[in-house]
Amino acid sequence: MIGFNLNKAKRHFTEALAEVFPQREAEQLMRTLLEDLFDIDLKRQLLEPELRIDERQHALLESAVKRLLQGEPVQYVTGKAHFDGLVFQVDPSVLIPRPETEELVWKIAETLPADQPLRIWDVGTGSGCIAIALAKRLPMAEVVAFDFSEEALAMARQNAESNGVDVTFVCDDVLHPQSEEWHQPVDLVVSNPPYVRASERASMERNVLDYEPSTALFVPDDDSLLYYRQILKLAKSQLNPDGVLWFEINEAKGHEMLLLCQQQGFQARLFEDFAGKPRFVHASRLLP
Ligand code: GLN
Repeated sequence: MIGFNLNKAKRHFTEALAEVFPQREAEQLMRTLLEDLFDIDLKRQLLEPELRIDERQHALLESAVKRLLQGEPVQYVTGKAHFDGLVFQVDPSVLIPRPETEELVWKIAETLPADQPLRIWDVGTGSGCIAIALAKRLPMAEVVAFDFSEEALAMARQNAESNGVDVTFVCDDVLHPQSEEWHQPVDLVVSNPPYVRASERASMERNVLDYEPSTALFVPDDDSLLYYRQILKLAKSQLNPDGVLWFEINEAKGHEMLLLCQQQGFQARLFEDFAGKPRFVHASRLLP
């Protein structure tokens, strides 16, 4: 018979993974590989116990398992990440979308009207996950997504296309804004900028440090809110009177962020993430 019995291959590779990962995680990783590499979900595996994979698929699994054992995040191995029910292509030029950021999108979508023509900025879009998920949830919105990395934008553009939404992507560094887009009025500004302090490196996982783009993660300890300050400055002149800002932040910086928003003329509130950590900031103009 040609190829390999899937269940047998699955057992073999799960065992290999379980040498390094806890059993449940090894099983979950295997499930992710089969779904995201071959589109074979658990249901199909149960319904078709004699399912076979060919030589090429077996070799692909072998190399995927090797990469996982070396510590590479599974999303880079498969090239896919799931976010807000959508599939995003990812590679090491973009940060892997995090569940916290998904929560941020839910919070925003909950509080904004889906039937109004809002203008949205997503500053530091990376894979495009926030911009694209919002464009999907708010079909009347016009979404502009900025990033300084051409590589990230190429990925984000593909993601907008594969998810069937229109987003305007702009290559610009928010710290040195050149684009005309920053001079347009805006109703919602959202950003998950780099916010991990360099000194926090020591407590981070190797798979993040070794594989994810450090420019999307790190900020200097002595000026860790620099992106927010700059975004607030731009928003100060461009945000419509009833416009809002939503940020994802470093859990250690909640109070400083509230203060910064106030200093820049905004009233702000902190929200916790699912783990109970202060993770999101909502800000709007201070009423005169
Ligand atoms: N939450 C990310 C992490 O776990 C950091 C994201 C960011 O810097 N914006 O590392």
